[in-house]
Amino acid sequence: MTSYVFEPAAIPTVAVAGQTARFPVRRIFCVGRNYAAHAREMGKDPEREPPFFFTKPADTVVDDGATVPYPPETESFHYEIELVVAIGRDGFNISRDDALDLVFGYAVGIDLTRRDLQLEARDKGRPWDWGKAFDHSAPIAPLHPVERAGHPAQGRIWLTVNEVVKQDADLAELIWPVADIIATISQSMQLKAGDLIMTGTPAGVGAIDIGDTVKGGIDGLGTIQIRIGENGPKSLDAKAAR
Ligand code: MN
Repeated sequence: MTSYVFEPAAIPTVAVAGQTARFPVRRIFCVGRNYAAHAREMGKDPEREPPFFFTKPADTVVDDGATVPYPPETESFHYEIELVVAIGRDGFNISRDDALDLVFGYAVGIDLTRRDLQLEARDKGRPWDWGKAFDHSAPIAPLHPVERAGHPAQGRIWLTVNEVVKQDADLAELIWPVADIIATISQSMQLKAGDLIMTGTPAGVGAIDIGDTVKGGIDGLGTIQIRIGENGPKSLDAKAAR
């Protein structure tokens, strides 16, 4: 048995609707610009170029109902409501036709973004990590297994801030549907059980602040709600102490 120089961190997990067992998270892939109207609002041409990806660490996941501390080093902290795909089986070089066989389930998630840091990195040709992959940046609601939810390809996806609607679109507007995204990632590396894919956000992204309540949902997959808390190490210490 392996011994460690200190106790390894707990495996990050996401809740599963209707059961107590949780989904162990391995990696989080995120799709950039997968709705035309959002690509336009980010100043980009929504022509159907191949999907591109960035990642978040597995331990950025946050449960529904959490208070997310306002992150450091940003004055433009943004929400992005997204359909989350949970991979339940390994797969490499998977065809589009077989891609959905890898899916364990789906959830509502929020790709929290330090927009000022992301855009500065984008425009300077630097990595997006500091804008996208920070602590608490991936709130994800309970997963709905495929047996219960099927494979949602259409339906309303929406987000409110303090009960004001900010994002309101339909999954049918995804430029690259879930099967294409899975097939594309699997051509580049082996997808593994435990991987999550955040599939991109529709138009209407914007800034949030301390004290805001952010709620979102997708037809058939329920809702997610978070509150934005005080910034700084005090919030992080409070989480670590739980
Ligand atoms: Mn996103």
